[in-house]
Amino acid sequence: MCQYCQGTSYIDNDLLIEFDDSEELVDTVKVYVTSKAKLFLHNDYGAVTVPIKYCPMCGRELQGGADETNA
Ligand SMILES: [Zn+2]
Repeated sequence: MCQYCQGTSYIDNDLLIEFDDSEELVDTVKVYVTSKAKLFLHNDYGAVTVPIKYCPMCGRELQGGADETNA
């Protein structure tokens, strides 16, 4: 477990990465991991969660979330 995946909410975890692909306006996307096995991305316009199996930083297997990829 690391500071990126310790908490069940992204608020508890360190920012994984942020990026801005827009050339005209500031539209920074911030990406977090949660211990509920989700990658959480958000910007000023919305948010999306993506199921993941492992923390991309420490490699810990993440559990607790519904795993839509395992149908
Ligand atoms: Zn981790």
